[in-house]
Amino acid sequence: MRPEILFPLFAPVTALPGIGPRLGKLVEKVAGPAVVDLLWHLPAALIDRRYAPKIAEATPGRIATLTVKIGKHEPAHNPRRPYKVICTDETGALQLVFFNARADWVTKLLPPDEVRVVSGRIDSFQGVLQMTHPDHVVTVEEAASLQAVEPVYPLTAGLTLKIVNKAMRAALARAPQLPEWQDAAWLARNGWQGWLAALMAAHAPERDADLEPLAASRQRLAYDELLANQLALALVRAHQRKLAGRAVSGDGTLRNRALAALPYRLTQSQQQALADILADMAEPQRMLRLLQGDVGSGKTVVAFLAMLNAVETGAQAALMAPTEILARQHFQTIEPIAEKIGVRVALLTGRDRGKSRQAALDGLADGTIAIAIGTHALFQDEVAFDDLALAVVDEQHRFGVHQRVTLAAKGRAVDMLVMTATPIPRTLMLTAYGDLDASRLTEKPAGRQPIDTRAVPLDRIAEVIDGIERALKSGAKVYWVCPLVEESEQSDLAAAAERQAELKGRFDERVGLVHGRMKGTDKDRAMERFAARDGGTDILVATTVIEVGVDVPAATVMVIEHAERFGLAQLHQLRGRIGRGAAKSTCILLYQAPLSEVARARLQIIRETEDGFRIAEEDLKLRGAGELLGTRQSGLPEFRMADLAAHGDLLAAARDDVKLILERDADLMDERGRALRTLLYLFQRDAAVKNLRSG
Ligand code: ADP
Ligand code: MG
Repeated sequence: MRPEILFPLFAPVTALPGIGPRLGKLVEKVAGPAVVDLLWHLPAALIDRRYAPKIAEATPGRIATLTVKIGKHEPAHNPRRPYKVICTDETGALQLVFFNARADWVTKLLPPDEVRVVSGRIDSFQGVLQMTHPDHVVTVEEAASLQAVEPVYPLTAGLTLKIVNKAMRAALARAPQLPEWQDAAWLARNGWQGWLAALMAAHAPERDADLEPLAASRQRLAYDELLANQLALALVRAHQRKLAGRAVSGDGTLRNRALAALPYRLTQSQQQALADILADMAEPQRMLRLLQGDVGSGKTVVAFLAMLNAVETGAQAALMAPTEILARQHFQTIEPIAEKIGVRVALLTGRDRGKSRQAALDGLADGTIAIAIGTHALFQDEVAFDDLALAVVDEQHRFGVHQRVTLAAKGRAVDMLVMTATPIPRTLMLTAYGDLDASRLTEKPAGRQPIDTRAVPLDRIAEVIDGIERALKSGAKVYWVCPLVEESEQSDLAAAAERQAELKGRFDERVGLVHGRMKGTDKDRAMERFAARDGGTDILVATTVIEVGVDVPAATVMVIEHAERFGLAQLHQLRGRIGRGAAKSTCILLYQAPLSEVARARLQIIRETEDGFRIAEEDLKLRGAGELLGTRQSGLPEFRMADLAAHGDLLAAARDDVKLILERDADLMDERGRALRTLLYLFQRDAAVKNLRSG
């Protein structure tokens, strides 16, 4: 349970002065529903009110705080004219200007002959110094409470800085002194303050440098957040390790026969990945391993061999893919070899019905079918296994954690292998999985040639089409990827259909089309016609549906239209569809000039390298972590204060810190351990605390 000391921070924002239900909604929109969310809402800029000149010295254009004597009021004579108040000091005069102001309000605010401190932007209008709608008007006594430097917070329509400032001051006043969870020596070494002091400092920037991610107060808060993230992940992992697992270690007979039946040899990194996986499976704990490999690096066969390891022990394995096309493709890769070595494989997708489906269900339930390959149809209730020991999940970021768990629940102590073709930079891996065991396929299978990637402006499209004609004559197959039109699948489609029609004008019926709105069967048919040697189509116009996984080795040319609209990761995934055979491949990035700076950088990187991990790192630099994979769909956590582009080192430090912490005090029982529990609650990692012994 959340410690009492944190209760004030977890009150709704409507508990703060000035925030009613209506403004509460707006605060929730920019920061979040609780007081603590508001505290994490750090200033983005500042207003410096320390400039306090005499009137005669005040520079127009600057924010100034002036002590003035109120003089004559000049009310507006008609509604379009402003209400003016003349003020003076011993050096000169200044007009305070109000539009649409009620006279009684201005009179009360600025009583003639009294002295007031006014703060706002100085302007010069027709040679007269003015301040329009001062930000602050206070008495000399009240002036002490004026913030000399005012933080400026990100806002939304209807939410003013004044409101947020007031609420923030109240929120900060609620913030308690908390027991220190950081190591004292580490704080000293970095010159960091305690939590509360750092929080106060982060909300009271004095100069622009204080707003930077590397400002000491911000680093401290970011480190707290990262430490909470890493600690929570480590606790969950430690808990999983304690769950009963089973040692799965086959005798190798099926694997050896499969290897003999493969028309190629495993690459070094495939062998290494397989060895990692087999070692994990042999352990009595549950495996949770990530197999990362670029498109075409050969993950499927590694997964298949791991599945055979389970089958050798008399158990079963399942492979789950995110789409129908991918599930079928895995099936087509695996089934012929499985058949040769006498292992039965079933394909289960949403589309298979009737007798064959029932036969598959029966075979899985009684154990005569050893391997199931399918889509999310695999975790429907009527799918039961005799003895599932290994679940392989492909393209993991498309599935939620929940679905992974559902699949695992279909067996006893199921080992889990997660495959992803999205190269996740090391830093993001850490935040999403902590120290998840990971194997990387870093080499391409032998015989692959580098892809010749070129950027060509759209106005030279005619030359590109001539080039395609030549390529077709020499037997090539061509992908033509159509641009992504923002937020509208409909217009994606229109663009693709139009392009198909145009290409048909030149190449007749040899031009196919595949897009996301097509029915599964139609999609498969279009893919099959393109994949087959004499299937009728040699050019496949596609929207981004071909992005993931599809394998047509004869395809050696890809045109990406409006390449400047695609993200780096997407371009990389798309290009991975070619260069899969022994022939030389070409990728043409058709772009609309002029390119923005970022778009130019993206195209440059994609031309320079095919290394998915490098591309992902560059992508992180260009975009920032949150956007990288589309945080929500990827399941990657979003941080409030940590900025992975700036705080990558802190993340690594937090991971190491957590290792030490848990070695010394696995259940967070000692003094620092208890403080760390508070940290976990502060960052709403309540679930992680549940993995601890209570106390
Ligand atoms: P991924 O799933 O990693 O994108 P796949 O497993 O689909 O890649 O493999 C891509 C292609 O490479 C497949 O046609 C597969 O048969 C082939 N392949 C896999 N491993 C090797 C290897 N070691 N040597 C040659 N070809 C391989
Ligand atoms: Mg694959």
